[in-house]
Amino acid sequence: MLPGDRRLGGLWCSEVLEQLSDYLEGALPPDTVALVQAHVSECDRCARFGAEFAAMVAALREHQQAAPLTPDVATRLRRRLSAPA
Ligand SMILES: [Zn+2]
Repeated sequence: MLPGDRRLGGLWCSEVLEQLSDYLEGALPPDTVALVQAHVSECDRCARFGAEFAAMVAALREHQQAAPLTPDVATRLRRRLSAPA
């Protein structure tokens, strides 16, 4: 248990934080997902941390999986999109 740990929605903050990466992976069973969501909806601290963590994970994932657009491709794409049809 962490200092300032709160029990909301049936879970402690520390439990929510432990589950967070599995939660974002979609690896938790639905009943655990419901508990995490119930906690986060009542706990501003976990909500804030969860949002930061989710953004970080999303950024990492994007980096790993999507091939980055080269400046050249991005420029051509933008030109094509702005060209009159
Ligand atoms: Zn919390």
